[in-house]
Amino acid sequence: MNTEKLSQRLQAVANYIPKGSSLADIGSDHAYLPCYAVKKEIIPFAVAGEVVEGPYQSAKRQVKMEGLNEQIIVRKGNGLEVIAPGEIDCITIAGMGGALIASILEDGKEKLGSVKRLILQPNISAMTTRQWLLGNGWELIAEEILEEDDKIYEILVAEKGDPYKPYKNLQKELLLGPFLIEQLSVSFQKKWKNELKNWQRILTQLENAAESEETMLKRKELKEKIQMVEEVLDK
Ligand code: SAM
Repeated sequence: MNTEKLSQRLQAVANYIPKGSSLADIGSDHAYLPCYAVKKEIIPFAVAGEVVEGPYQSAKRQVKMEGLNEQIIVRKGNGLEVIAPGEIDCITIAGMGGALIASILEDGKEKLGSVKRLILQPNISAMTTRQWLLGNGWELIAEEILEEDDKIYEILVAEKGDPYKPYKNLQKELLLGPFLIEQLSVSFQKKWKNELKNWQRILTQLENAAESEETMLKRKELKEKIQMVEEVLDK
């Protein structure tokens, strides 16, 4: 991967950046995504935010090497603290857990006033990210799932609007993704078949475990999730 040719995963994220946006890429590591977006003239300006010194230095080096210091500012800081209110209209957060993405958005809520689009790529627990969007007035407008190097990635795109609009069956669709259920792609089926196998294994362990209120509750929850996913896959 380089700033001319992104990984399939980051390319899918880049495809949702509206042309002309002022972008913040949070957790930017090598700043590949903002460098690519500026070089391809998708955006005129970006902030690349990084909280860890090593990746922050890598991002600075990359931006300097590309000669993009005028268009991309690399800032060190936690989550959305690297952006000023009103500065940014599109945020990308990719390659982290869904809970971390949700906590970055929650902690930086006051910076989201001018932001029109969020493009989020949780590596795990996309449900936690969907729940945050739902609770905070962000409407999921698109989702994508793809497989690269034996890993399956989900991309969630949201804009301010009616957060309940894409949902018909909240519990099921928060877990699996309302758009992804409709698409029922090969990667989606693979992801959830693997998850089902995992859950079945845990369920067997729980069935052999000593009876307690906790194991009963866990079994019940797992059975519900297994049923929900089986219904979708058998559709
Ligand atoms: N976004 C790039 C991508 O998708 O390829 C890099 C992903 S890398 C796995 C995650 C990056 O997020 C790391 O460089 C990490 O230091 C950074 N990160 C984690 N938590 C962060 C936070 N709260 N604020 C800013 N950056 C964070």
